[in-house]
Amino acid sequence: MALTALISVSDKSGVLEFAQGLHALGVKLLSTGGTAKLLADAGLPVTEVADHTGFPEMLDGRVKTLHPKVHGGLLARRDLPAHMSALETHGIATIDLLVVNLYPFEATVAKAGCTLEDAIENIDIGGPAMVRSAAKNWKDVAVLTDASQYPVALSALQSQGRIDEKTKFAFSVAAFNRIADYDGAISDYLSSIDFEASAAQPAPVRKPFPAQSNGRFVKLQDLRYGENPHQQAAFYRDLYPAPGSLVTARQLQGKELSYNNIADADAAWECVKSFDTPACVIVKHANPCGVAVGVDAAQAYDKAFKTDPTSAFGGIIAFNRPVDEAAAQAVSKQFVEVLMAPGFTPEALAVFKSKVNVRILEIALPPGGATAWERGLNAVDAKRIGSGLLLQTADNHELTLDALKVVTKKQPTPEQLQDLLFAWKVAKYVKSNAIVFCAGGMTLGVGAGQMSRIDSARIASIKAEHAKLPLAGSAVASDAFFPFRDGLDVVVDHGASCVIQPGGSMRDQEVIDAADERGVAMVFTGVRHFRH
Ligand code: 5GP
Repeated sequence: MALTALISVSDKSGVLEFAQGLHALGVKLLSTGGTAKLLADAGLPVTEVADHTGFPEMLDGRVKTLHPKVHGGLLARRDLPAHMSALETHGIATIDLLVVNLYPFEATVAKAGCTLEDAIENIDIGGPAMVRSAAKNWKDVAVLTDASQYPVALSALQSQGRIDEKTKFAFSVAAFNRIADYDGAISDYLSSIDFEASAAQPAPVRKPFPAQSNGRFVKLQDLRYGENPHQQAAFYRDLYPAPGSLVTARQLQGKELSYNNIADADAAWECVKSFDTPACVIVKHANPCGVAVGVDAAQAYDKAFKTDPTSAFGGIIAFNRPVDEAAAQAVSKQFVEVLMAPGFTPEALAVFKSKVNVRILEIALPPGGATAWERGLNAVDAKRIGSGLLLQTADNHELTLDALKVVTKKQPTPEQLQDLLFAWKVAKYVKSNAIVFCAGGMTLGVGAGQMSRIDSARIASIKAEHAKLPLAGSAVASDAFFPFRDGLDVVVDHGASCVIQPGGSMRDQEVIDAADERGVAMVFTGVRHFRH
């Protein structure tokens, strides 16, 4: 008996070729208005669903396929005589293949200025209903919700005259996943609307937090393993990723990304994109081990590498400018795991052509604009704890010059101020307790992740010593206040001439007095950047 396929798609790419393939196999074609027209115009014999049901499409397409002749044909169990005789009683034919993709809700609401009315009209009703019917009855109905499935189904029908159960089950799972994502997108979008603030506006005003997502994610890929080989892992992205975030990257070459690669790449990318001038960030184990700005990418890299050449081995390297041949040549001298930038010249890519393992990621910088979203700032930061989840707004604080308070007798010079701001920017991306020595737009020593601030200070200076970088006259940033004067004494002992820190300790006065006594300039930011 000939099979029947119902085809109803918004995104019509690939569907004509697929329908032609089905027709060649003798499959009977049923279709909704727009899809039927496309197929008929190409000369395919197709029955409109309206003719099939004897009920016209109505309410501007809101009701097209919501009819027992459609849903009965999809839901009837072929192995139950009672189901089959009910179909016969009501004159309903079985539908064996359902091909549906939905009104483009996600793409519609992603457009700037999308009105609520536009969004609502792009909520597909009959499509998901049919997909659910077919996916529930997966043993008897193959449900295709993505064009990538067309060749799979067609070649099975061509070679075996049927689609096997394993494939039909996989189609059903994919269909329910698609519906969950779709409904998730609708729910996220509507939940994010500030109804009152939207009243007089043409397009709805979105709430800043929890912003565009209720914590729904889209799976990008399974990973070979997690942080360690005995852990399993997968990579997900937000339903609506911020533009310019790591999850929007395109891998141009190299081995598959690992769990640790992705975590470190994110740290490097978030840090490097916070600079306006050409910058380079080298990350190892989630911490920057070299950060610098320069006249171009190559110079920024040279300076960043000098901070800690030992640690930079096998590092994750990020640029906020396209990588040209000079920068690529410089980077290629070291062992690099991941290299990322907003672009690569053909000459730069040629340098890495023979280094097939190096993972190269191209990521567009955020477009920039008035909103945090346009500037690529993540809305929410999450951390999994045992049987729970911690959510917070992301640490998007940007320091402005007028927020700085000089607390010492000594005022920082303009050059010192520049170094202090650079150091502060870097410290934000270093795990706490963070102490960062800088000068001339480069890091000189990074002390990260210690349980006491004074140990971070000591480690930062030891690092500079190892790299043979003089600390005399350097600027130091501390991500949180110095609880005692001892930390300050350590950095001044090693040559710091100015310090930036949040302030706010019970013993601020003791620390300020120490700075005055030692003749260094100190500024308070009033904001702290713990990072755990
Ligand atoms: P066409 O372009 O063929 O006229 O319409 C195809 C689209 O209509 C598909 O995206 C499909 O999911 C959707 N669709 C099918 N039946 C219904 C229905 O009864 N109501 C609504 N709102 N959409 C439907």
